[in-house]
This record gives sequence, C-alpha cells and structure tokens, in this order.
Amino acid sequence: MVPTQERSYRALTVDTVRSAVEQLQYFEDVEQLQVSEIGDGNLNYVFLLEEPATGKSLIVKQALPYAKVVGESWPLTLDRAKIEYQSLQKAAEVVPNLVPVVYHHDMEMAYTVMEDLSSHEILRSALINGNQYPNLGKDIGTYTAQTLFHTSDFYLHPFTKKALVKDFLNPELCKITEDLVFTDPFFDHDTNEISDEIRPFVTQFWQDEELKREAAKLKLQFLTEAEALLHGDLHSGSIFVTANSTKVIDPEFAFVGPIGFDLGSFLANLLLNYLSQEAHMKEKADLQVFRDFLSDTWKQTWETFATQFLELCKTKGHFTFSSIKGVAEEFVDKVWRDTLGFAGCEMVRRTIGLAQVADLNTIEDAPVQIDLKQKALTSGAALIKNRNEIKGINAFLSWIQEL
Ligand code: ADP
Ligand code: MG
Ligand code: MG
Ligand code: MG
Repeated sequence: MVPTQERSYRALTVDTVRSAVEQLQYFEDVEQLQVSEIGDGNLNYVFLLEEPATGKSLIVKQALPYAKVVGESWPLTLDRAKIEYQSLQKAAEVVPNLVPVVYHHDMEMAYTVMEDLSSHEILRSALINGNQYPNLGKDIGTYTAQTLFHTSDFYLHPFTKKALVKDFLNPELCKITEDLVFTDPFFDHDTNEISDEIRPFVTQFWQDEELKREAAKLKLQFLTEAEALLHGDLHSGSIFVTANSTKVIDPEFAFVGPIGFDLGSFLANLLLNYLSQEAHMKEKADLQVFRDFLSDTWKQTWETFATQFLELCKTKGHFTFSSIKGVAEEFVDKVWRDTLGFAGCEMVRRTIGLAQVADLNTIEDAPVQIDLKQKALTSGAALIKNRNEIKGINAFLSWIQEL
C-alpha cells in the first residue's frame, strides 16, 4: 500500500480550491467565487468560498502533511482528514442538527467540503465576551450521549464495535494527546510554555507525586479503555454557537477511547472560562450571573448526558446491560469520575502546556493572569486527585463555589 503522503496530494490554494467544489454543482459559477483562507493555520487549511450572486457559501477544510509546533514543522499524517470526515458522518446519523452538513470528501487530497457556519461564533470567544447560550448544556449533553452510546458496546454488535476501533485507530493524533495532555505538563518538558513569573509555582507543582501518579493512571485509561468513538478534541474552540444553534466541529482526534475524555474536555474549558471571568467581567454582579450560567451549563450537560445515556441503554441497549439492574448506572458513575480526572488534566495542559487558551492568555493585567493560572493549576490538580471523592453533580457544584 502506498502511504497517504505519497499519493497525489497537493496543498490547495485560494485559486485551486475552486476545482474542489466544481463537481458538486452547488455554485452557479466557480469562477465568480470569492475565496479566503480563514483557518488558524497550524494543522489545516480552512477555505471559505462565497458566491456573491447567489449568496451561497461553502467551507473546504484540508489537512496539511505537517503540523507547525513551536516554530518547527513536524510531519503529521493526512489520515486525520478521513478520520474527521468519517466521524462527522457518524455523528450526523444520530445528531444531524449538532454537526455541519458534509457535502464531499476527497481522501487523496485530504479535504472535506462542508456547510459554512460563519453565521455562528466559536464558543471560546463567545464565552470570553460574556455571552450566554441557554441551549448549550442540553445540546452538548445530547451530542455526547447520542454519539458515545451509539458507538459503544452497550449498543453495537461486538464485530461492528471492533471494526470501528480498527477504522479509527488514529495513532499519531492520539500520541499528541498522550504527550501534550497527560505527560509533558507534569514534567519540565520543553513543549511547555511557562513564563518566568509562574515557573517557581510550577516547579512546586511538579513535586506532587500523588498528582503525577493519578495523571499517569488517567493516561493509562486513555491508552487502554476503548469505550466509544470519541470526538477527541471537544474544547470550546471546537464548538460553534448562535443564540439557538450549537454545532460541533473538528473531530480529527477521533478514536475509540474513554467516554469521560470528551465530557472532561468540555468541562475543563467551561472551568477555565469560569476562572478567567474574574478578569474579563467588569461588574461583580455580572460576574456572579455569568458564573451561574456556566455552572448551570455544566449541570445541564451532565444531567442530559446521564439521563439520555441511561435511557438509551434501557431502550436500545443489549439485554445484558438493559435488563440487569445497575450495570449501566455503575458505568455512568465511572464516567463521572473519569470526567473529573480528564477535566483536571485538560485544565493543567491548557494553562502551562503547548496549546493554551485565550481565556487566560488574553488577560492583560500580568499579576492577575499569573494568579488565575495558579488557580487553574490548583483546581486541575484537585480534580485529578479528588475525582473519586466529588460524588455527583451537586457535590461538584458546591466544589465550584469554593474555587
Ligand atoms: P483546526 O483543526 O485547524 O483547529 P477547525 O476545524 O477547528 O480547524 O477550524 C479552524 C477555524 O476555521 C475555526 O475556528 C473557524 O473559525 C473556521 N471554520 C472551521 N470550520 C468552519 C465551518 N464549517 N464554517 C465556518 N468556519 C469554519
Ligand atoms: Mg485550530
Ligand atoms: Mg480546531
Ligand atoms: Mg483540529
């Protein structure tokens, strides 16, 4: 078999990308398209194609054969484009309203043509700006329950499940997560981004043997627990929102792993925003209202996930899991504990690791930024170490109050 990289791949340009949509006959005249590249350019190109005469538009996302990491280019498999496409398709089978419509995928050129969601805003910037989305928790709870249940052993025939594991091995992107989420931030590794001001605190943080042991156990779970097809990168930069619509994008890290990883990624990004609002919100009264919205969003996410997942087990699950009382319930309790632990790892990684978040990094007052980063590290560590002690959503909501 010829490796993907050696087939007829060419990076698209604003000119050649027109040919990628010509055969779809979606536009009246591809020559008239206005094209711009709107991605952030670290891993992939994202082209926006607009036809002024018809008001129609499409997105073409193409994987690049390398990743730009700390100024250098590292080779990175193009297979992730196919993984992303297949994952979007699988999600569309169960939650078509929560993902972009996909029109076409070209495996050799590693691009996908999809619905333009420019009418939406990326959740991370929307939250930093203090905007509230009342359906967000219910939508992400539904997205996770539906996508994860329908790709788990609770639902699939064991042959189908094992074929799914094989189709979504995604070793190179998993390795990025294994290193950048579970390993590097817990050691003095050169992928970390640590300012001189916060380094003494972080050096202390790395002395915590219990923390490192528990993070390593979570890494082992990530490596070994093939529970369901995950999104794999469900942070607030992978979610598009409007007042009444939620769309999940960018599942190129998809693989069959522990369910709590998706829920934990989402939770961590809510918590990082929660902490950062101390700097972003001008009025104290607004701060409390917004933090209540974030807590409530998490409550709705978890409760929607747990309720739908258990209901699906009961109505569509294999009889071993649907008829014997307690199996699905105990599994959901396990997902809860994992969610807290994975959320803790994600908080740590987004604070001192390679890929940080604007929620914290756009805080202009340097001492405030350092203080909040320390809080993020302490909170992340607490979640990792106490994940078995914070029992249930109400205990968690009390824990948030104390942050
Ligand atoms: P990456 O894998 O490189 O992070 P994303 O899929 O997250 O790529 O897309 C990067 C950016 O491109 C998004 O933050 C968004 O601004 C834009 N984008 C991606 N998909 C769409 C879409 N379907 N509609 C409109 N903009 C999009
Ligand atoms: Mg990006
Ligand atoms: Mg992205
Ligand atoms: Mg991505």
